[in-house]
Amino acid sequence: MTAQLIDGNALARQIRADVSGRTAALKARGIQPTLAIVLVGDDPASQVYVKHKVNDSSETGLVANLERHPASLGEAELLARIHALNEDPSVHGILVQLPLPRHMDSQKVIEAISPAKDVDGFHVASAGALMVGRPGFWPCTPHGCLRMLDSIGYELRGKHAVVIGRSNIVGKPMAMMLLGRSATVSICHSATADLGAITRQADVIVAAVGKQNLLTADMVKPGAVVLDVGMNRNAEGKLCGDVDFEGVREVASWITPVPGGVGPMTRAMLLVNTLEAAERSAK
Ligand code: NAP
Repeated sequence: MTAQLIDGNALARQIRADVSGRTAALKARGIQPTLAIVLVGDDPASQVYVKHKVNDSSETGLVANLERHPASLGEAELLARIHALNEDPSVHGILVQLPLPRHMDSQKVIEAISPAKDVDGFHVASAGALMVGRPGFWPCTPHGCLRMLDSIGYELRGKHAVVIGRSNIVGKPMAMMLLGRSATVSICHSATADLGAITRQADVIVAAVGKQNLLTADMVKPGAVVLDVGMNRNAEGKLCGDVDFEGVREVASWITPVPGGVGPMTRAMLLVNTLEAAERSAK
């Protein structure tokens, strides 16, 4: 079997088109969906990420206001800035680009964002809302993964989903979302004794670790669906995921490529969350 590709670029394009339409409808009612992006310091990767976020926003009619602060900014000053954005009714979403400089407590900064504007979905209130099944903002990467499963009409109910990785921004929320769809969920991590023994039982595998070739064909049940969240550089410096793509695609039924899989979906889901924040504020 050669797996079919779940094309993240194509799906993200559809999502952006939908966001554009809904944004136009809000604008017609006098509401300009607006995202505030706060960048502290000059981390090169962060510079690239925020540039993409600004471009994605403007392409879909959202406004993204990028504010840059020097790495020397004090934590109290940053918190004061976030409080001001919380109070600003023209701002619907607030994103603080991580990582922050070492002298700052990232979690404290994230907790300062109003949950109503937490479009990254990293606030503890957002995590709690996901846990208990209440409306909130879902983190973009696992939310994008779920949308990819929906795009192929995959019925999760009763299936065994294995999530590899338990970070607060990918693995744990992914597991909650899959559980919310009535999958049976296993979460694996660095202390998991025999990863392959667990993944071989899986109907769906989400790999979110950050290690090239972590998941190989012998670890995948024939016909499983494989979502590759990992972002690594191979020996040639090319972007690759956690999955041995060439091997696993011969066993799986569906697979996401890297690049062109989960990455573009993560970017698209930020737009969705920002738009939803604006729509909620308009109700
Ligand atoms: P993270 O916070 O470093 O978490 C990695 C997880 O992998 C941890 O839970 C760790 O276990 C687990 N792990 C490490 N080695 C393992 C092993 N040998 N077997 C099983 N589990 C193992 O990373 P993250 O932020 O979740 O990101 C994970 C990957 O996804 C990275 O490559 C990142 O760049 C990528 N990513 C991609 C996107 C996208 O849009 N495509 C978005 C976010 C992240 P412990 O908890 O026991 O340490």
